[in-house]
Amino acid sequence: MRVDTRVVHTDVPALTSKPLAVPLYQTSGFSFDDLDAFADGMTRPDGAFVYSRLANPTVRALEDAVAALEGGTAALATASGMGAISAVLMANLKAGDHVIAQRALYGGTLAFLRDLAERWGVTVTYVGGHDADEVRAALRPETKVLYLETIANPTGHVSDLPALAAAAGDVLVVVDNTFASPLLCRPIEHGADVVVHSTTKYLGGHSDVTGGVAVFADTARHHRTWHYAVELGVTPDPFAAWLTIRGLRTLALRVRKHEENAAVLARRLADHPAVRKVHWTGLETHPSHAVAAGFLTGFGSAFSFDLADAAAGRAFVTSLGLISLAPSLGGVETLVLHPASTSHRQLTEEQLAASGITGGTIRLSVGIEDVEDLWDDLARALPVV
Ligand SMILES: *Cc1c(COP(=O)(O)O)cnc(C)c1O
Repeated sequence: MRVDTRVVHTDVPALTSKPLAVPLYQTSGFSFDDLDAFADGMTRPDGAFVYSRLANPTVRALEDAVAALEGGTAALATASGMGAISAVLMANLKAGDHVIAQRALYGGTLAFLRDLAERWGVTVTYVGGHDADEVRAALRPETKVLYLETIANPTGHVSDLPALAAAAGDVLVVVDNTFASPLLCRPIEHGADVVVHSTTKYLGGHSDVTGGVAVFADTARHHRTWHYAVELGVTPDPFAAWLTIRGLRTLALRVRKHEENAAVLARRLADHPAVRKVHWTGLETHPSHAVAAGFLTGFGSAFSFDLADAAAGRAFVTSLGLISLAPSLGGVETLVLHPASTSHRQLTEEQLAASGITGGTIRLSVGIEDVEDLWDDLARALPVV
């Protein structure tokens, strides 16, 4: 070969041993000797690897790992959590269908459901989440999806998944398990059919990658949703999947430490005179505590607490030192956010109240630092009363 040809054709080495870590297959496509295998790979998610928008070995490693963690049969990794949520909903709904969803939902999901209603003729009924009779009463012949979150942001609301899933009968139950992670809850064991995650949060865990995943209890549903995701083009870049796999290896250690720190901080905040209320589900006083204790193995480490008013909230988030004011959660570092002026700014007063948010509400994503350094920072920034 001449140099212009040689620079284009770098061989992939054949292996006789197995790498310890999942290799990054940063390739957009795959070459074939077998034309039939090529054609077959384009029609299903479990054929030969053809093109990385359809399937990729690094992405598959992530999908298989999360499917196993969640006790599902197959998974679909996506470029973001919203990619997983929108692909699952669009692939499994059509005009005229009806959705039952819990009222306390991630803002992006609420906006997407609003769009589905306004532009695609899908109607949505919102329910509280603790009362299975409310779900039974909302069911219609055209109800196709029951949509829940394991632990909702920022109030820590936990719907009674086992009871609601049973009440929903054969309606598709979709659960956003981002805040719990499969360490604290495996929704499929409690009646969910599809579990979605923003892997940007705990699964990635290092605030360096955006991603999502949907896990399916049923292979046929996975295949159908895969077809739609491939058309939408929400599949992730292999490097994002590779970073997420790297994060996943320490998930169990991180979640335990996050939880331990959150328990200490939530209890100290609850005892502080400047704090009106702490919305950590692990506190016996939380309205979802009993429901959560029934089927979760932990209460999560992103929660909110209320200061007196908006002025106190704004002053607090800008006077922290170690803890950063930033969006997102579930990373190794502790972050705060002032929902009323950022993540939930588009909500009306009424919607804010329904979501349990006031001007004084602070959202805390507790990291894995030494808890005494975190407390020193929080205590220094809390108002003197
Ligand atoms: C962040 C988040 C999402 C959206 O995920 P992206 O990766 O930002 O698209 C969905 N649901 C919950 C509960 C989240 O926290």
